Amino acid sequence: MKRVYNFSPGPSQLPLPVLEQAAAEMTDTHGSGQSVMEMSHRSGDFKPIIEKTEALLRSLMGIPANYRVLFLQGGASLQFSMIPMNLAGTEPGSQKKRATYIETGIWAQKAAAEGAKYVEVVLGASSKDRAYTYIPSPPAPNSDDAYYHITLNNTIVGTRWTELPQTAAVPLVADISSSILSEPLDVSRFGLLYAGAQKNLGPAGTTVVIIREDLIGKAPSWIPVMLRYDIHAQEASLYNTPPCYGIYIIGLVLEWLKGLGGIPAIAEHNRQKAGMFYRYLDQSRLFRSPVDPVFRSLMNIPFVITGVERAERADLEARFVREAAAQGLVNLAGHRLVGGMRASLYNAMPLEGVQELITFMDRFEERYFKHVSYTNHE
Ligand SMILES: *Cc1c(COP(=O)(O)O)cnc(C)c1O
Repeated sequence: MKRVYNFSPGPSQLPLPVLEQAAAEMTDTHGSGQSVMEMSHRSGDFKPIIEKTEALLRSLMGIPANYRVLFLQGGASLQFSMIPMNLAGTEPGSQKKRATYIETGIWAQKAAAEGAKYVEVVLGASSKDRAYTYIPSPPAPNSDDAYYHITLNNTIVGTRWTELPQTAAVPLVADISSSILSEPLDVSRFGLLYAGAQKNLGPAGTTVVIIREDLIGKAPSWIPVMLRYDIHAQEASLYNTPPCYGIYIIGLVLEWLKGLGGIPAIAEHNRQKAGMFYRYLDQSRLFRSPVDPVFRSLMNIPFVITGVERAERADLEARFVREAAAQGLVNLAGHRLVGGMRASLYNAMPLEGVQELITFMDRFEERYFKHVSYTNHE
């Protein structure tokens, strides 16, 4: 069997023991004589699966009792609409409520653009002036803000919030799609947290929403039933058929994580992996991290080739991605909007994957830096 190291930003690599267990249970899960894909979501076979998944998430993240956990669909992107609709939606003809958004990257920008359809968006701060390579200092919220939205880890540009903004009584809402379960997080600081599963939790198709109970039930009547937190909370994520198989795999991922020692243990592992990779980049003559060291992401690490003319750089970067893939180090191209390269080092990426990548880059540097040094006219 040949497994690659998959550095994709999502869908991303899953832990091998999880895939093996899923394979072993594929045709007969827990003695039911069926796959989870074939089970009724209302059956006694599926109920313990969704309950176990929620209980594990609660204990690993330390989710307080006054928060609800919802397993929804539509990806993190649907939350860009559901959050403003449910937390600040108003009846037609009445004045829109306000919410503050901090623009720290392309996903943050998309969240604000969608939010603006339903609320009056106040752009609290933006790091667009320097291509989102840092986290701007967050302003205090307006006291009448319905919520305050941040993107905790910026998947495309590779930054992360190292300190949460102080929002007093205004609920802090965070997109944690690419950082959920990667580091300790004090859930009680937030009104709502959301994450698409396909980065650090499981397969695409499930979205996890963690919402403080007092924020449920504010939705005006025009909001479609499938987009209402109150309905999904009342029905314990079983209003309609949930993404059953995805929820089951998330449960296996959470069990795997618990077995490793939970979030403190994985956070240590993540700091070790990212630290090693940044140390390599910072001493490299050919590669460079464009991100302010203070705000560097542990999960998504963009890098570029330096000291080369633009046309040559694009060629060399394409060659890098191609040659890495041939070595089993796949999906290293940067996001189509920002270019360059990016290594995503989610929980499931082992240390050996990062070591192999560094060894490959070192050899690449050895081969191409010399070449670069006499063709560099910049
Ligand atoms: C991937 C990602 C999204 C989009 O997620 P979908 O589930 O594809 O909608 C949104 N925000 C962040 C921070 C992401 O990393």
